[in-house]
Amino acid sequence: MAGNTSHCTGCGQPIEYSARFCARCGTANDPATNRETPLFTCPYCFSHLPPRFKKSLTATTWIVFVVLLVLDFLLSPLAFFIKEEQRVCSGCGIKLGG
Ligand SMILES: [Zn+2]
Ligand SMILES: [Zn+2]
Repeated sequence: MAGNTSHCTGCGQPIEYSARFCARCGTANDPATNRETPLFTCPYCFSHLPPRFKKSLTATTWIVFVVLLVLDFLLSPLAFFIKEEQRVCSGCGIKLGG
């Protein structure tokens, strides 16, 4: 199944496990990551760029904000420290599930 080749996370080009960088686009090749996570493909823009993580506010943020606002409005800004990491496509910026 798994030979001695992997896929470049940058351009999807087959790349040898021993190679440090992709010969085509120069993206650093990390065999360990490549083995664990199969080549990522964005379902929207089909980009092979690995997704990035973006912190965003959640519904909990607003609930805590309102509760703190009632208790002590000076504490209410603390609610904005409640953030959730979300996987976002590096290519198109669409929010990805999981
Ligand atoms: Zn590449
Ligand atoms: Zn995308």
